[in-house]
Amino acid sequence: MTSSVATPTGLAPQEAQVVESVPTGLYIGGSWRPSGSGATFPVEDPSTNQVLAQVADAGPEDARAALDAAVAAQEGWAACPPRERGEILRRAFEAIMDRQEELALIMTLEMGKPLSESRAEVAYAAEFFRWFSEEACRIAGRYAKAPNGAGRLVTMRQPVGPCLLITPWNFPLAMATRKVGPAVAAGCTMVLKPAALTPLSALAVTQILADAGLPGGVLNVITTTKAGPTTGPVISDPRLRKLSFTGSTEVGHALMAQASEQLLRISMELGGNAPFLVFEDADLDAAVEGAMVAKMRNGGEACTAANRFHVAEPVADAFASKLAERMAAVKVGRGTEEGVQLGPLVDQPTRSKVSELVEDAAGKGAKVLTGGEAMDGPGYFYRPTVLAGVPAGARCLSEEIFGPVAPITTFSTEEEAIASANDTEYGLVAYLYTRDFSRALRVTEALESGMVGLNQGMVSNPAAPFGGVKHSGLGREGGAEGIEEYLSIKYLAFTLG
Ligand code: NAP
Repeated sequence: MTSSVATPTGLAPQEAQVVESVPTGLYIGGSWRPSGSGATFPVEDPSTNQVLAQVADAGPEDARAALDAAVAAQEGWAACPPRERGEILRRAFEAIMDRQEELALIMTLEMGKPLSESRAEVAYAAEFFRWFSEEACRIAGRYAKAPNGAGRLVTMRQPVGPCLLITPWNFPLAMATRKVGPAVAAGCTMVLKPAALTPLSALAVTQILADAGLPGGVLNVITTTKAGPTTGPVISDPRLRKLSFTGSTEVGHALMAQASEQLLRISMELGGNAPFLVFEDADLDAAVEGAMVAKMRNGGEACTAANRFHVAEPVADAFASKLAERMAAVKVGRGTEEGVQLGPLVDQPTRSKVSELVEDAAGKGAKVLTGGEAMDGPGYFYRPTVLAGVPAGARCLSEEIFGPVAPITTFSTEEEAIASANDTEYGLVAYLYTRDFSRALRVTEALESGMVGLNQGMVSNPAAPFGGVKHSGLGREGGAEGIEEYLSIKYLAFTLG
């Protein structure tokens, strides 16, 4: 069953202008160039299926040239004073904020999210540069007396060396700055590979960093439609020191196996299956408000998206009907239109998977309170959906939905709520609504996740350590911890004469 959404086709002059301002080549050694083969690939607007730009399609030789440039720049960059590294990031932060509108428009065009969300992502992305501009000067070591009293223990932190950074399409700017910021601050050089679906935001910020004074070779960017064959030789290259990946658990597994060949330092920010727990004593209106944020931020296409709602039996019907009312009122459309709250999904496979999961749950007895269907017309739109009474065994409870679908199940005891929340291979984030502080701490301690949102539907904050446990990954991005991923510790031993 389908219903329609009105989406204008064709780019407005201002849209065409910002898209044309984005460099579309590979950025290697401080200059833009076409791919060695001259190949390009199209970037599409998921609202209209219209091609926005043709971007250079790198192959393994281009990736090798990017790594060569990163390796050549490493020694000089590590020697650059931390204050200078920080000031480059600070200038880039300011330039991003000066151009927030333009960058938001580029993001909305290539990824589909509403402009209001793109503006928020641009600010969030910029904040990683500001945060790490400050952290650049806080890289410290330690001096200690050895237990025997004569020895001295000195530790220092040094850049790990050339890094490969691979990012997904769902937060095209923030996932790049969350890696590039700490790498620049720590004194590492890098090769960045943004997602093929949404390369424009990363390419735009690359030019901003160059204009802010980042020396050639520190950041090299390759775009490609052949991710595995192009990055594989870089990962096997003994000159690479670190791989930082954000994306699906499936690809993360494969990359970890590859990275083991050279025993690379790795950071893995992978998939999620966030539980959203609503206890009987929760402020129900606040829980519904938080649910809208946790579910609908980025249209549900977020690793942090609430994937399943576990609600205490006595309040489950009330929660479900309030949430369904809010979801039914969400305005769907092209993200560039004023007032639109939900854009399209990023592509057809993503929408097909959402449809499949909803059909599976409905087939197993879940009740569709609102939505439950794709929308006609160009673009990959899907109606905001609430499913009540979702039975155990429905795929949407165990698989990442990555769309605007809220499945609701119930629990009767705190123990049952915790067991259901932890019944997943993932462990990125969990949300918890209760007014009982002891319960909040008890449940938080028992949850198997890297992050917990207590009475709030969003946890992301550049000043906090973002990351997961179990199959959601390894390492942390942001916070004081984020820069550690790009530093290695050297210990100096000596004995006083
Ligand atoms: P994906 O398919 O795993 O792709 C992520 C990146 O890896 C893209 O740049 C992709 O390139 C590249 N890639 C794919 N296969 C590769 C290979 N064999 N070798 C090297 N690179 C490869 O994930 P996605 O669909 O873009 O993103 C959605 C996923 O990311 C979700 O699972 C979401 O939960 C997760 N995510 C996690 C976090 C977090 O912080 N934990 C944040 C955001 C998203 P192509 O674009 O060319 O395929």
